[in-house]
Amino acid sequence: MPAMASPPGPPPCPFCEIIAGRLESSPVYEDDQVVAFLDINPVTRGHLLVVPRAHAARLSALDPGTGASLFAVAHRIALALYAADLPCEGVNLFLADGEAAGQEVDHVHLHVIPRVTGDGFRIEASGQQPGRPELDATAGQIRIALAADIG
Ligand code: 5GP
Ligand code: ZN
Repeated sequence: MPAMASPPGPPPCPFCEIIAGRLESSPVYEDDQVVAFLDINPVTRGHLLVVPRAHAARLSALDPGTGASLFAVAHRIALALYAADLPCEGVNLFLADGEAAGQEVDHVHLHVIPRVTGDGFRIEASGQQPGRPELDATAGQIRIALAADIG
């Protein structure tokens, strides 16, 4: 039998495929706005992703109320990780928005990563040492953008 041709267009979003039940996952939570399932390449055991049901590639496209739900569910799951029978002495919440920030899957997702001392997971960065004038100028630029957003 000849091989089936792939449908034209970009590959489907893997997280939408999981939500639709067309791609397997190991789920831990779902409600009407948000689902959570284990990351397929966990950096530690229990590493999972909290994902809005409605596709939004970037934070700029995410409904703010859904964003709040995303954090609320991640908060709840973090507490469950401490209580679960898994190694968990600490938790990282991590969200990469945009390619420059390391986003690989273009469907907003919040990583919840259980941590233990010496687990080897590191984010490499060296802190800069700007003076107070630069800190104040930067804060001013962000305040202007926030004020414009609030109106
Ligand atoms: P990002 O770099 O975009 O913040 O992280 C994307 C995450 O999605 C990675 O940790 C990767 O392992 C995970 N991932 C990519 N494809 C799949 C998939 O099909 N299923 C699951 N469960 N996780 C995936
Ligand atoms: Zn999607």
